[in-house]
Amino acid sequence: MDVSFAGKRALVTGAGKGIGRATALRLARCGAKVAAVTRTQADLDSLVQQCASIIPVCVDLADWGATEATLQDVGPIDLLVNNAGCSDLQPFLDVTPEQFDKLFNVNVKAVMHVSQVVARGMKARGSGGSIVNVSSQASQCAFRDHAVYCATKGALDMLTKVMALELGPHQIRVNSVNPTVVMTEMGRLAWSSPDRAQTLLSRVPLGRFAEVDDVVNSILFLLSDKSNMTTGVTLPVDGGFLAC
Ligand code: NAP
Repeated sequence: MDVSFAGKRALVTGAGKGIGRATALRLARCGAKVAAVTRTQADLDSLVQQCASIIPVCVDLADWGATEATLQDVGPIDLLVNNAGCSDLQPFLDVTPEQFDKLFNVNVKAVMHVSQVVARGMKARGSGGSIVNVSSQASQCAFRDHAVYCATKGALDMLTKVMALELGPHQIRVNSVNPTVVMTEMGRLAWSSPDRAQTLLSRVPLGRFAEVDDVVNSILFLLSDKSNMTTGVTLPVDGGFLAC
């Protein structure tokens, strides 16, 4: 299946590393003009070195005011990937208000904010658009020490559905991908221990974790006109984990 994004403008958050970086690069390769948003300038410098057409945007998405100001200059966007996310593992009884706020600020509040800015432009132009939120299997399954992370991704799934409901009449589709473990920096933090990894793997029918490209392929499908009648879904990219 060939997908072209020629003539489209895309914005990818958390594009400095991992899934977001690979998504930005692939979108650019498929013809989109890509704005890459992240908070570490060195990551943006190396990204632009890798792909000169990418527009680097350096901002901490946890900062509402700075995000609002920065996104004003990005221009019209047709495709949005809300990928930036963070985790901070703690036993439930030890979670602090600071950890709670940090994760909700990036994983949920920033998604709502960036989507508001971008979707207002889509609505005003009347050209429709597609938004993909990067959620997780952790939105629907409990994992030890993941109380706040699981709660943010559960909230994100419901935000995806409400956005689909309210933005649908403007021909803006909103979906999420919900990956299993991917061995990015974030994945390694939680799942590097062989015992822990094996326990989870034994519950994945396909018997492996996801590769970054598995997730990118699903994001591109949901962004593309190949999924024109699909909105409000949470698409597992989990080798069957959530089916069992
Ligand atoms: P990653 O390798 O840690 O990359 C995350 C990217 O987001 C980094 O570039 C990071 O920048 C950026 N970011 C984080 N907080 C930010 C902020 N406040 N403002 C701007 N940028 C920010 O993570 P990943 O594994 O690719 O994860 C991407 C998404 O997939 C996340 O939403 C995650 O929850 C989800 N996911 C991951 C897995 C997994 O196993 N890896 C599984 C399911 C879902 P800095 O490095 O500068 O902080």
